[in-house]
Amino acid sequence: MKTEDITTGFDWKYAPAPEAKDHIKLKTQYDLFINGKFVKPNSKKYFDTVNPSTEEKIASIAQANAKDVDSAVTAAKTAYDKTWKKMPAKERAKYIFRIARVIQERARELGVIESMDGGKPIRESRDFDVPTAANHFFYYAGWADKLDYAFPNRKPESLGVAAQIIPWNFPLLMAAWKIAPALATGNTVVLKPAESTSLTALKLAEIIQECDLPPGVVNIITGFGDAGAAMVAHPLVNKIAFTGSTDVGKIIQKAIAGTNKKATLELGGKAANIIFDDAPINQAVEGIVNGIFFNQGHVCCAGSRLFVQENVAEEVIQKLKARMQTLIVGDPLDKNTDIGAINSKEQLDKINEYLKIGVKEGLELFQTSAAVPKKGFYCKPTLFIGAAQSNRVVQEEIFGPVLTIQTFRTIEEVIEKANNIPYGLSAGVWTDKGSKIFNLTTKLRAGVIWANTYNKFDPTSPFGGYKESGFGREGGLHGLMPYLKF
Ligand code: NAP
Ligand code: MG
Repeated sequence: MKTEDITTGFDWKYAPAPEAKDHIKLKTQYDLFINGKFVKPNSKKYFDTVNPSTEEKIASIAQANAKDVDSAVTAAKTAYDKTWKKMPAKERAKYIFRIARVIQERARELGVIESMDGGKPIRESRDFDVPTAANHFFYYAGWADKLDYAFPNRKPESLGVAAQIIPWNFPLLMAAWKIAPALATGNTVVLKPAESTSLTALKLAEIIQECDLPPGVVNIITGFGDAGAAMVAHPLVNKIAFTGSTDVGKIIQKAIAGTNKKATLELGGKAANIIFDDAPINQAVEGIVNGIFFNQGHVCCAGSRLFVQENVAEEVIQKLKARMQTLIVGDPLDKNTDIGAINSKEQLDKINEYLKIGVKEGLELFQTSAAVPKKGFYCKPTLFIGAAQSNRVVQEEIFGPVLTIQTFRTIEEVIEKANNIPYGLSAGVWTDKGSKIFNLTTKLRAGVIWANTYNKFDPTSPFGGYKESGFGREGGLHGLMPYLKF
């Protein structure tokens, strides 16, 4: 079949290959995990968590208010003073290792719940989110009793209570990114997941209980933005670790101004993925698809702005369209699915709004031809061809499977365009020349730059942003520092 034929779509389908869900254990109602126990919320209120691929309710989730936040922070402070900070580091490490091992043991269950609650394909949650979450606990468990070697002659000390607030795109993995280094450095934790994806964090609370972590060392509370704000404002909190939108990041920064609370903010992104004419084109096309379409574009470091060198633009766009036609959008629990459900109705509305904006801005829109399921929140993988620097779809974070395409002639031009944006979280460079890679990695204002690959993560490697993408690093040795004073 010629590529021209492929761009019009396949007329055959894979047989469904649904992942079993009879092995998972879910309650109909979840309470707050405070001081080692599940307790009813002071608000007496619960909210629904919904499966975005079916629009059906999965469970009721407790809605924490400021009093619940106070109980959780007080429990964390007591556990810090009475137990955790006094415990020998090698004993702390054992708990963290134990959590890692139980995550591995319960990986299948966690993967299925992540896909049900958040909408991401089971392939992603099973092969990436859950194993990488376990790896973070393993990695930081290893550091717990080696802090003096990590920072020689600097006598690192823990901070106290860490308030950790996370978004909905990698619920379990973000919880692991936050909790593992905090515990390894001797801090205690109050963590709040995003309201639409609380379930795997609550499963993690069950695991933490099963691992006999001393009560209060990790508290997991569910609720809305007001609970997050109460965590940030609480006087007993010493450190804030936030991953989410730039707007909320700015609110947090204002709220802690003038206090001695430490903070790391991991915020939005709008990454440039740059393809030079000497790049391995087929591999690059796969990298573009991996960078923006897998995980529905719900990735802060998604390669959402494509820059292609002018003389290969036609070839790249043609091959990209052909590859996109083969992507399967549908049931997140089907092992063949490439693109699952958009996390929530609100997010889908936001993406659709941007699709309208792009068309209004006069851009050529390309969407794949296969139908998407009628029920549930779905968006077809989309290209905006012929985009310009000034377009809103280029400048603003869409957080969906939408890719803008711009062309360039010279290295200087692409560096200027790639950097001309408020964000600076990540970027990708595709070329055969090592010298070009080194040139770009020094000139692109982005925290992470991938060369001839995209979206690769490892617990040993630091991650974080420049400019409005935030500050502080998570992962690696660098990820220990925000939880220590010297
Ligand atoms: P969000 O609206 O900023 O929410 C993030 C978290 O903050 C949620 O738990 C949210 O609770 C809570 N929150 C809301 N208002 C708050 C307030 N005033 N004070 C304290 N906490 C508050 O972000 P999102 O929509 O969940 O996630 C998408 C965003 O996260 C994107 O911009 C994406 O780029 C960014 N992100 C960045 C990274 C990174 O590493 N840089 C990683 C993943 C995602 P509710 O859910 O109840 O509103
Ligand atoms: Mg949900």
